[in-house]
Amino acid sequence: MSELTKFLFEGLPVRGMLVRLTDSWREVLRRREAAATASDLDAVAPYPQPVRELLGEMAAAGVLMQANIKFSGALVLQVHGDGPVKLAVAEVQSDLAFRATANVVGAVAADAQLEALVNVHGRGRCAITLDPRERLPGQQPYQGIVSLHGDRREPLQRVQHVLEHYMLQSEQLDTRLVLAANDELAAGLLIQRLPVEGEGNLEGAAGSGGGSGAARRNEDDIGLSEAFNRIATLAATLTREELLALPAERVLHRLFWEETLRVFEPLSPRFACTCSRERVRGMLKSLGRDEVESIVAERGEVEIGCEFCGAQYRFDPVDVGALFTPGRDHPPGSRAVQ
Ligand SMILES: [Zn+2]
Repeated sequence: MSELTKFLFEGLPVRGMLVRLTDSWREVLRRREAAATASDLDAVAPYPQPVRELLGEMAAAGVLMQANIKFSGALVLQVHGDGPVKLAVAEVQSDLAFRATANVVGAVAADAQLEALVNVHGRGRCAITLDPRERLPGQQPYQGIVSLHGDRREPLQRVQHVLEHYMLQSEQLDTRLVLAANDELAAGLLIQRLPVEGEGNLEGAAGSGGGSGAARRNEDDIGLSEAFNRIATLAATLTREELLALPAERVLHRLFWEETLRVFEPLSPRFACTCSRERVRGMLKSLGRDEVESIVAERGEVEIGCEFCGAQYRFDPVDVGALFTPGRDHPPGSRAVQ
């Protein structure tokens, strides 16, 4: 079963989490395979190996980040690419239900790393969005965006380095991430120095928002925490192979056997999709009657597939008529085919 384990270092301003997405990650890949089998569209072909690894690492990172800030709404981790991967998305709800998808166009080299996947021309971007469950009137989702380059403009080759950079630049939080994924498991380790106060960073944005004073004090402390540096150095010795092969307790023992850890009951991330026939109806309505009716005229029906879970939503001419007829807004029944 998929598990997320939080832990604290007793007496030190450092916390950590380890996530292992097993059944839930395999479900993401299984659904993609099923969608690819059911369709001959290139857009739903099975993911090449480097894309599976990228997406798995993003899913693990998204779950870690959501569990870290406990935001009431969706945390959406997106990489907008200028290479064969145009978009990769991992979206995680506050109960750690997650979904993930990638849009791949063209060939992917077997050994492609982040630059070759999404940053071929240096225009790739990573965006982290916090979309509140219940938005206040006029409230916009919070979004932070970073390039896929390091401090010396060097292209970064791992998504974990992009996110570390983001956490430091945008959130003033010293963070170490180790991520790894294969076809069985998407896993991640996060180590973070506890903020002085939760303001001026993602955590602050998730709560009341606020003052820059605490953020500045916190910024002054970056890199100065000896305890964090020691633990981050230990964390960085974890190899991807170990992370993929060892159960959580063995990873923690292997890295931190000399530290005093307080380990909490594991949480249970799971795969779930938030798509629905109602949402597809809303999308079709926003396209407009002429556009939708021209599709029906051409193909006899409108068929929309969910990129995240593979659900197919079909609208025949009667459904489409109802869609644009006032007072017939809610025909009974959903005909989503899994
Ligand atoms: Zn879906």
